[in-house]
Amino acid sequence: MLNAERVRAYFELPQPVLTAYLNTNPAKPANRKPEPEFLTWLKGEAKTASRTLPIDQQKLFQQQLERVETYLRDRVARGRGLVIFAGPKTWETLAVEEEISNETRWGAPYMAPLLQLMGEHKPHEVVILDRKGARFLRYRMGEVAELGTRKFDVNVSDWRKKDMGKVASAPTRSKQGAGTMKKTRGSQRDTFEHRMDARYARLCAETAREATQLAAKEKLRTVFVAGAGQLLADVTSGFSRESARHVVKIEKDLGGIPARELAGHVGSAIAHWERGHEAEMVESLLGNGRGTVVGMDETLAQLQKGGIRRLVLAGDMDAKLRRCRRCGLASRAADAVCQRCGGERAITTVREVALELAWKEKAEIEIVSGEAGERLKGAEGIGGWLRRPAEVKIAG
Ligand SMILES: [Zn+2]
Repeated sequence: MLNAERVRAYFELPQPVLTAYLNTNPAKPANRKPEPEFLTWLKGEAKTASRTLPIDQQKLFQQQLERVETYLRDRVARGRGLVIFAGPKTWETLAVEEEISNETRWGAPYMAPLLQLMGEHKPHEVVILDRKGARFLRYRMGEVAELGTRKFDVNVSDWRKKDMGKVASAPTRSKQGAGTMKKTRGSQRDTFEHRMDARYARLCAETAREATQLAAKEKLRTVFVAGAGQLLADVTSGFSRESARHVVKIEKDLGGIPARELAGHVGSAIAHWERGHEAEMVESLLGNGRGTVVGMDETLAQLQKGGIRRLVLAGDMDAKLRRCRRCGLASRAADAVCQRCGGERAITTVREVALELAWKEKAEIEIVSGEAGERLKGAEGIGGWLRRPAEVKIAG
């Protein structure tokens, strides 16, 4: 599973290492040939890459390449994508469910594509409510994992009907219902009802609290709560004001549906929300003069001094850039030699430089696509929110 801990560990891998990103999607006809396309690609690419390496690196590279090829030949592809880190003392593989492009790199672990995947598909929490209880799930890119459940000790939806007898029509929660209740029902019923209301309110609040705690613990950005009617309304209103900003309702009763099928039921609502969220974010970035930067030069300059708190990047941005091999200073200038240290400047992409810097500076990474991406490309496809002055001091 792709997560921040893994990414951190990959960054620490000993160098040199061969990084290979392979599109192993079994749905691709070319990948179903006796020699799948990604393997053919790797062999061809490797020949070219090998020639550009210094002599002392070529043998090391060749050894790792052979390991990777052997592994790929013996293996049935599982995920849509496969990432491999292979070095003299390293062997790491990661299957991903996203469609990725074939790429290899020798030297430092090549992390930009993984950082991009992390920025594109943030994990969310999904809470499924029904009469029996709440199920808490982690959702990321069409995959669902169960985090826990909370049983409701009383059958919520039946409380009112059963216990209210003939007068069960008006809303009965004491908050809104007290005034509408008929005195004729007697005090016993009122007491009972009062107790049930309190219990019900507590249950909804506890469910909301558990959802909030899980989201914080698992670093899940948004909480999608799926359920029906009053129960959905009551649980979602149980969130604190601060966490309620990250709560989205899905009006669907998915109680009886097994976890493995849930992704299909909530996926489109989540994708819809993500598109809206990206559009809002880009609008806010472009419309907001203060505390933000947009465009390549300014954003890169801020990134390099740790001034960005949240980087926003159009997913398919591929503008080229030069970066010093020695000190890492990057800019659009065409100079072959670094202004700062005289080191050699290699051609790379804005995407790679920006993503790696953002990770190192602990900035949030947001990748936008579709309409939001096109909008951002009007501002060179890159921008971000600046840290407040106090934050810069701490970071620097
Ligand atoms: Zn330099």
